[in-house]
Amino acid sequence: MVTPMIVCHGGAGHSAKDQPGVDAAADAGWGILSTGGSALDAVLAAVEIMENDPVLNAGTGGRKRADGSVQLDAAVATSDGKLGSIMAIEDTPNPVHVAAGLLNEPYHILVGQGARDWADQQGYPKAKVEGSDSPSGNDTVGSVAIDENGLMAVATSTGGCTGRPRGRVGDTPLWGPGFWIDEEVALAATGIGEDITIKMLCHRVAIQTGTLQQRLEYGISLFDPSIEVGLIGITAKGEALGLANTGLPLAIRSVNQ
Ligand code: ASP
Repeated sequence: MVTPMIVCHGGAGHSAKDQPGVDAAADAGWGILSTGGSALDAVLAAVEIMENDPVLNAGTGGRKRADGSVQLDAAVATSDGKLGSIMAIEDTPNPVHVAAGLLNEPYHILVGQGARDWADQQGYPKAKVEGSDSPSGNDTVGSVAIDENGLMAVATSTGGCTGRPRGRVGDTPLWGPGFWIDEEVALAATGIGEDITIKMLCHRVAIQTGTLQQRLEYGISLFDPSIEVGLIGITAKGEALGLANTGLPLAIRSVNQ
């Protein structure tokens, strides 16, 4: 039996004052993992809690676009090769659940109004998301987990970077830059989405050799220190870590933590 673990983050650039929502998310995920639940259920429960936390930039706390709208991105993937990704969806307080709804569909990525139309057809809750009035701020929430059966899962969710144009998509819902998962490692990124996407961050970290610490350090080292970036990861051999070049609310739970 594998030792379960979960890592949650509340976004590069956030400070310790935003830690409580990340701790609550990790505790909820750990509650599922420690009683034999799946990594998928654990990351979904964790990210839902962070989406519902108005201080974190995802779901309810999503930052506003240049036109005042709130458009949200989210993604979910598992180490057995499933993917769901939602981009620039509106009126959806918990986009991570809509993304999870795509894991078993013959299509895996939906954007904008098409994403919301599909969510309506499937009965996912629709409600205006007021978003955060924070004048600036980027950040994302994310979680990676491994369960006692050795299945890994990753979930990410964001309101993007404040003031970006309507329709803009950062790294968060993109397999490759914003997250990566295979049978060996699960990774999620946070920071300035344009820079992370250009560098194909998570995939480049995934194909590094070395310890998880060395691999995350390599990923952070790809960026000028003026560019906010952070990473969380879990490996099948039992490593769990988060690292950033800024503040990063982080919570890790396993049998020893
Ligand atoms: N990566 C997110 C984005 O660019 C924001 C962040 O994590 O800071 O949409």
